[in-house]
Amino acid sequence: MENPEPLPAFRYHPDPVGTGAIVANPDQPCLGCSRIRGYIYMGPVSTEKNFILDEHLCPWCIADGSAAKRFSATFNDTGVAEGIPDAVRAEIEQRTPGYTGWQQERWMACCGDGAEFLGVAGKRELERDFQEAVAVVKKHLRDEFDLSKADAEDFFDGLSKDGEPSAYVFRCLHCKKYLAYVDEA
Ligand SMILES: [Zn+2]
Ligand SMILES: [Zn+2]
Repeated sequence: MENPEPLPAFRYHPDPVGTGAIVANPDQPCLGCSRIRGYIYMGPVSTEKNFILDEHLCPWCIADGSAAKRFSATFNDTGVAEGIPDAVRAEIEQRTPGYTGWQQERWMACCGDGAEFLGVAGKRELERDFQEAVAVVKKHLRDEFDLSKADAEDFFDGLSKDGEPSAYVFRCLHCKKYLAYVDEA
């Protein structure tokens, strides 16, 4: 293996190793650059053609857009993110590592820009790592799922990172507000 280079920076997914989207892998060559670069992308990939790219791309080929270009690949869907420029959509869809949700993943937006993805979380992770997102998730449960306060608390208590349903935590790059959504029951 070559000496690992510093990972590329992803504006909309700042800690892809922390979220598990990118893992150290000393053996796996990348199908984009054919090099063994020490890290492999584990998140979702969609292609218009029948390329099997899962767990076969390095983060550098995602960051520079070469994997997207070569394989017509996208890593995220910004369909429900409103009010963001096309250039931001392109960066999130084509040059940003994605994450695996139980249901169709969606990217969140705020202040006219895509938000940064911070991770998949259950009750435990929310209370431990994303305390400021706890109220956001509970409000989301009350508003989007039309739950009473007590039912929202019950639903919140059942959130699990590795089980279902999970919460997906984002933060606005501008106003720093936390954003989150939850799998629908
Ligand atoms: Zn590569
Ligand atoms: Zn904002």
